[in-house]
Amino acid sequence: MTAPSPPPRALTIAGSDPSGGAGLQADITVFTRLKVHPMAIPAALTVQNSAGVRAVTPLAPDTVIDALAAVHADMPPAATKTGMLGTDAVVAALADYVAENPLPNLVIDPILRASSGPGLLTDDGFATLRERLIPRATLITPNRYEAELLWGQSIPNAAAAERAAAALREAGAAVLITGGHLDDKGYIIDTLADESGITTWRHPRHPGPSPHGTGCALSAAITAYLAHGLTLRESVRRALAYTLTAVRTAAAPGTGRPYLGDGTTELNESPEEGTL
Ligand code: PLP
Repeated sequence: MTAPSPPPRALTIAGSDPSGGAGLQADITVFTRLKVHPMAIPAALTVQNSAGVRAVTPLAPDTVIDALAAVHADMPPAATKTGMLGTDAVVAALADYVAENPLPNLVIDPILRASSGPGLLTDDGFATLRERLIPRATLITPNRYEAELLWGQSIPNAAAAERAAAALREAGAAVLITGGHLDDKGYIIDTLADESGITTWRHPRHPGPSPHGTGCALSAAITAYLAHGLTLRESVRRALAYTLTAVRTAAAPGTGRPYLGDGTTELNESPEEGTL
């Protein structure tokens, strides 16, 4: 028997959510479900449960970079995502590392704060992310509020998201603005700006509270599909379908918000592609 070939490798550098709904733990879950080898480096630790984030402990930049250098030298990832990075020092150290050692298929989820309120990155860290890390990314996946900070203008609806995505794309990376926080009623429109222009996907809004960790799961799924060698656009299309299914199958494990289900469940429902 010939030795089995190893699965593609994906890496996440993100915050730990000990309740297993967001961050590093959500990314590992998605990577495993989508059949890539899950590599995971904590950039910060949180104290949280389904009711929200209570405390955040940043990690030393050297701790993060030493782990990255060790796995990168031995098992280079086919795709990497960053989530919660915590501090300016960690973002700057990562920007320095990536400038010297490029990471292919780098997806940046420019997380600033949790839906429950607490900050997950300092303001100076967000500025460093914008100036030094985003220009080296393949894709960024801001939500409405993160895109507003990056663009400097308000993004009330999908028409504005289209303008924002096209403008932010000029920094180099492709841009996926997630539509969950837009004012459009009844449906969610996600907007991708890449080298072939603007693509949108629309699906009906799911009733009830939005599940914890949805943005983390989406960017992890895109990263997993990129690691499998799919194009950016196909990776985004499949990851949106994965996340839609994960939202539809969400359930509440504690007293707070629902947690995502398994996005590989067969539901025969995907976002509809089109232009506005
Ligand atoms: N904790 C960590 C480590 C995260 O990365 C995130 C989201 O990015 C959150 C908590 C908050 O997730 P949500 O806003 O979906 O509750």
